[in-house]
Amino acid sequence: MKKGLFPGSFDPFTKGHEAIVLKAIYLFDEIYIGIGINSNKKYLFDTENRIKHIKELFKNYSNVQVGTYQKLTVDYCKEIKASHIIRGLRNSSDFEYEKTIAHMNTAISGIETVFFLSDEKHSALNSSIIREMYNNEADISPFVTFPNLLAKN
Ligand code: ADP
Repeated sequence: MKKGLFPGSFDPFTKGHEAIVLKAIYLFDEIYIGIGINSNKKYLFDTENRIKHIKELFKNYSNVQVGTYQKLTVDYCKEIKASHIIRGLRNSSDFEYEKTIAHMNTAISGIETVFFLSDEKHSALNSSIIREMYNNEADISPFVTFPNLLAKN
């Protein structure tokens, strides 16, 4: 039973994130989407609501689960018995950033990170742009599935 953890802020969970899960599902028996909660950070979208949104997205996938955590990602991996961390790469800046974190995670726990390249159409998509659009009442439906399920914190 191979379980992978896809950790992130997911504020909100975009079509880019969704595509990464759908790619990873071919390699893992189960994918756990972990919403990392940092008490020093403010999130635009309400956490319970983000969970509901992700659950709805994957309601037809019994092997995709969602949860929240407030600890090191590698400790959460151990808690839920995930063997690998899953991350998405859009460009070279993602790569440089992710490489440092992945090396650190392996150094402290032995847990490896598996990367999936984003599709070209999602490579310019990031949650902070969506937050900016949402705050300015722009239509985010091209970038987020079921945007009507999201609600502000
Ligand atoms: P974090 O705050 O941990 O970076 P994000 O929610 O921004 O959380 O992203 C979680 C993961 O998804 C990261 O690996 C990020 O590179 C990846 N990601 C974000 N947006 C996209 C996208 N449009 N396509 C593919 N991967 C993405």
